[in-house]
Amino acid sequence: MEKGDPKPTVTESFPMSGGDGAHSYARNSSLQRGGLFNALNKSREAILANLDLRNPNFDRNNNIVRIADFGCSVGPNTFDAVKHIIDTVKLRFRQEDDVDDDLQDLEFHVFFNDQSNNDFNTLFKTLPKNENCFAAGVPGSFYGRVFPRNSLHIGHTSYTLHWLSRVPGENIGKQNSPAHKEQFEKDIENFLEARSEELVPGGLMIVLGLCISDGVPFAQTGKGIVMEIFLGCLIDIAKAGIISEEKAKTFSFPKYFPHFSEVKEAMERNRRFSVEMMEEIKHAYEDVDVGHELVVSVYRGLYHGVLVEHFGESSVDVLFDRFAEELTKCPLDDIKKTASDREYVIVLRRNLV
Ligand code: SAH
Repeated sequence: MEKGDPKPTVTESFPMSGGDGAHSYARNSSLQRGGLFNALNKSREAILANLDLRNPNFDRNNNIVRIADFGCSVGPNTFDAVKHIIDTVKLRFRQEDDVDDDLQDLEFHVFFNDQSNNDFNTLFKTLPKNENCFAAGVPGSFYGRVFPRNSLHIGHTSYTLHWLSRVPGENIGKQNSPAHKEQFEKDIENFLEARSEELVPGGLMIVLGLCISDGVPFAQTGKGIVMEIFLGCLIDIAKAGIISEEKAKTFSFPKYFPHFSEVKEAMERNRRFSVEMMEEIKHAYEDVDVGHELVVSVYRGLYHGVLVEHFGESSVDVLFDRFAEELTKCPLDDIKKTASDREYVIVLRRNLV
């Protein structure tokens, strides 16, 4: 390790549900997919405005653009994100007469990063064919270094940074506690530090994620309300003797949902990137009918791994049945009307010095 490099971070790891079965992330990530399209349409202009093709770090002799998606999961969302970036880079080449000819030569090296226990097999089996695009998998936590220095031109990450590197031990059993917030801030710092080493000066980092409206307490957001119901179900099945009560009480998701201003502060605190674009946008659920079944399947896609790890495979089905039953008592349309669940989209540029 170089002096000054961030230390590798050992993180807890709870992959999304693999494969392509009914409860897989691949089949339960349509909400994230909707958000991705909203955000990418927003970020296109910022990418076009900030991608400097005359930057010597962009390796124009070889015309190879290196792109990485951090926390890619199993697809298909990561494929759409990468395709969008490739299309935008091509568009950028077309905008400049003198480089337009280089388009035929242009090749892309695309890296898919996630924790090593992510289902990379499903990812690569479903990878769409693209002639000028060469793919590779990169295992490891994005809270530490996963690429050599100055090796990437464009980085992307979506729906990832609310996953903490660990559950803050001293506040177990609570969600979105001050300890979770502290961990979130440390994690973002480590994330940006590592990316600043890996991206070339002038390189771009696109960050999309979940947040909540400023001033609204977590417990009053859609996520907070539904999570509370879920944690209540854990206690219910513990009382029925299916899981240990102690385990149910001390469980908390390794997650933190920041207010928009907290994300903004975390991004502005770092000195390695300039914030070229940062917007709070609507949550993808505003464009879809959110039924009870959708929420249950989203939870299954996201949390199956973490719950099995904590409570064992056999209790998880009982838990989800209970959750499905309890959730029907909750008027989801009323929650949606509060519209306090939000998303953010950010384009960062690695400083030249
Ligand atoms: N980007 C995809 C998947 C989001 S789900 C999409 O937009 O649909 C979140 C992903 O982040 C999961 O696959 C999870 O394994 C990954 N992840 C969470 N923490 C991580 C870490 N520390 N390092 C690498 N990947 C991580």
